[in-house]
Parts: sequence; structure tokens; C-alpha cells
Amino acid sequence: MILFIFVKDHIGLLIITSGKFFKSEIIFMKTQGTKSATSRRDAMKMIATGSAAGILGLFRSPLFQAASQENKEAPAYAKGMPAVKISKVRAIATAPAGSNLVIVKVETTEPGLYGLGCATFTQRAEAVITAINSYLDDFCRGKDVDNIEDMWQSAYVSSYWRNGPVLNNALSGLDEALWDIKAKRANMPVYQLLGGKVRFAVPCYTHASGQTPEEVITSVQKFMAQGFRHVRIQLGGYGSVGTLGNNPDFKGAGFGAESDSFMDQRAYLNAVPKMFESVRKACGEEVELLHDMHERVEPIDAINLIKKLEEYHPFFIEDPFSPENMEWFKQLRAATSVPVAMGELFNNINEFRMPMVDQLFDFIRIHISQIGGITPAMKVARLGEWFNIKTAWHGPGDVSPVGHAANCHIDLATWNFGIQESVSFSDKLQSVFSGCPTMKNGYMSVNEVPGLGVDINEKEAAKYPITTKSNWIVRKRDGTVIRP
Ligand code: MG
Repeated sequence: MILFIFVKDHIGLLIITSGKFFKSEIIFMKTQGTKSATSRRDAMKMIATGSAAGILGLFRSPLFQAASQENKEAPAYAKGMPAVKISKVRAIATAPAGSNLVIVKVETTEPGLYGLGCATFTQRAEAVITAINSYLDDFCRGKDVDNIEDMWQSAYVSSYWRNGPVLNNALSGLDEALWDIKAKRANMPVYQLLGGKVRFAVPCYTHASGQTPEEVITSVQKFMAQGFRHVRIQLGGYGSVGTLGNNPDFKGAGFGAESDSFMDQRAYLNAVPKMFESVRKACGEEVELLHDMHERVEPIDAINLIKKLEEYHPFFIEDPFSPENMEWFKQLRAATSVPVAMGELFNNINEFRMPMVDQLFDFIRIHISQIGGITPAMKVARLGEWFNIKTAWHGPGDVSPVGHAANCHIDLATWNFGIQESVSFSDKLQSVFSGCPTMKNGYMSVNEVPGLGVDINEKEAAKYPITTKSNWIVRKRDGTVIRP
């Protein structure tokens, strides 16, 4: 019902509506003194003559329409989900396969609803646990689980000093757990929230290594028989550590720690082309071969080695230079067209921007927990689409099954996906983590349940305590530290 009210130079509409409850609104409009006002005389004329057009004109006014909108009950689809708050954030540490793994569990005000995220920084696990339990928990309590982007942005700057691996890993655990929660609330796997599948499963490469080229060949053939079409080949450890050369002079001199490793860089540079030649001869042309240099030789030597590998057409060569030597990429690009993968040591997505804009490498090697989770990784993945640079997320043993699942969900939804690094999950690992991604014929698939699909058995996890002991130091013959 609508009643007209006149007060001095204003005309008013009293609107009374009935729905679930009776509601009333009054709208006043000035009738004199401004060009846009409806005059009292015109309004009277409208009412007196019952001018349909005039009355409709009043009803079309923005004020009238806004008042009408407020009285409509929002349809169910526009209401969104009820607010859920974070009640606790805590770290769970475990090492069922030897590597320290750190998981973030985000608990909520909704009974039974929680999320899991990977915060694994194997070498400094206790530092990440402190960041989670002592700082992130307090920061997150009472906040809305749905505002993932805002949570990421605000947690990122909440310490003012930022952009380091400890805080980034803690942030990743939170970010992945929030995506897990949002997908559980939506009753969908996470990849659906990222845009849905662009492939039925995720092509992967696995690791073949041996002390000799013959051992590497045997390992490659084993994986080819399992259906892998991409295999990374390494002689011994990274840089052939422990394979080529023994008894370095620094050990005899008592320099460094007893557990420090030795790398003979010249022996490595000579051995890798021979390994490629042997594997190509024995395994044929169909299998894609990859190799990780792990930033262990001088930049100019890295360029010369990659040029030598051209004739074996590798799928990609990984980490030719340390992040401190990014300027060398321009010379590498000028010297050879062998595809290159880079980025697992980058701390911040801004480090990817200029090398990608300049198309200095072909594959993005993001370690998702290192970079801060799914939210920032998706931004780099989408940037790659503009420059035809593909993803090749880091997926070694020091990524938890929750992190491997996060990799896989992004891979499923990213058009410019390149390849995914994979490892097998041992029985011990699967006794702690249920719903791990699965491998078949060289393809990885996720557990198709709402969320990331991986859960943790905390009782089992407690059986495998983490350790603070690790030594990644590699030295030259004279004891000089090699910077990876
Ligand atoms: Mg690498």
C-alpha cells in the first residue's frame, strides 16, 4: 500500500509492504527550489488526474527502487554460506619416510570441519613449528575461514619483515588448509574451485639414479615399464656427489665437518653427457629425459654443459644457476635452445616476474610451501599462460602428501601445465596420511573427495618424531663451499 504525504515543500511516499513481516518505508522528495525536484503542483496533478505515466515516473525513481529492493528477501543462492571462524591453528610434525614433514591443521567453529596444509621446510622444521604455534595461531583465531586472499595478504605483512622460507612455509600451511576447508564446505575437490579439470590426470616424471650409466639405464627401463614417459636421470646425488671422486684434500686436512660432502665439478661435467648418450642408446628416443644440475657448477660451465646435451634433446635441464646468478640466463638463452626449468629456491612470486616476462626459462619450478601456498602459486601459473611458460612444480620427498595433493589440484586446473615431479608414497607414509594421490601409467590422480583429499592420523604421526640434524654442505676439493 502507498500513501502520499505532503509536508511544506516535500512530497512523501509511505510504502507499506507485507511479506514475512510488515515493513514500512518513507521517501521524501523536495518539490521546489531544485531543477530535478518534482513540483508539488505536478505531483498533485498526477494524483488528481491519475496520470499513469506520472505515477510510474515516481515509482521509477532511484530512491523508490532502493527502498523496494530492501524489502525483498534475498534468494537462497545469493545468501552464501554461513560464517565459520577459525578456532585454532597448530602444527603437526612427523617423519615417517625420514624427511621432516610439517602439517598445519586449521580447526574451525563448525564441529568436525578442519583443513590441512603443507608447511614442510625439512631443514628448519622446528623454526616453522614455532612460527605456526606461537604466532599464526594467535593471528588467525576468530577470523573468517572464507576470506583466503585477505588472510594471505594480511598474514604475509603481519610480521612487517617477511619473505623468508620459515614464515612462507607457515603461511603455506594456513593457505592450503583454508582451500581445503573452502572446498569441503562447497562439497567439491579443490581443483573445481580453481576452474575445473583441463586434463583427466597429471603426467609425471620420476627419479632414476645410479652410481654408473648402466645402473641409471636399468632404473629408467624399470620406470618405462611402469608407464612413465618422463624420467629424470642423475649419476648419484646432485652434482654426482658421492659418485665421482673420493678422499678430497680438505678431509685429509681436517677442514670442515666430518659429514660435509665432496663434489668434483670437472668429473661431473664430463660424466653427464656420457650418461645421456648411454641412456639414449639403451632406452631409445621416445622417453623424455630430464636432469637437475642443482646449481652446483660455475655458470659458464653450466652453459657449456647444456650446449653439449643439445644432441640428446632433453625435456628440460633444471637449476643451471643459483638465484644469485640470474643475469647468466641471458647468455644461456643466446647459446642454446635447450628447455630450462628454474625457481625452486625463489622465496617470493616477484622473483618470477621479470625472468618470465623476458622468457628466460621454460618451466616454473615452484616449491609450493616455500612460496606461500596455492594462492600465490596460482598467480604465477596464470602469468605463465601469457608467456607460454609451463608449470613443473617441485615434488620431492620433502613435500608432504598434503603438499603433493596441492600440486596435483593446481596441475589439473592449469592450462599451461608442463610436467609434475612425483615420488612414491611408502607404506609408513600412507599409515600416517590417508587419501594420498595415486600413480598409474605415469599419471597422478587425486582422491576425488571434497577438499585436498588427504587426511592425517595424528596417533600414527606421533610414532615418527622429526630431527634437527641435517647437513647440506658440499665442498670443492680444497674445502670451498659450493653454493647450490
Ligand atoms: Mg631442483
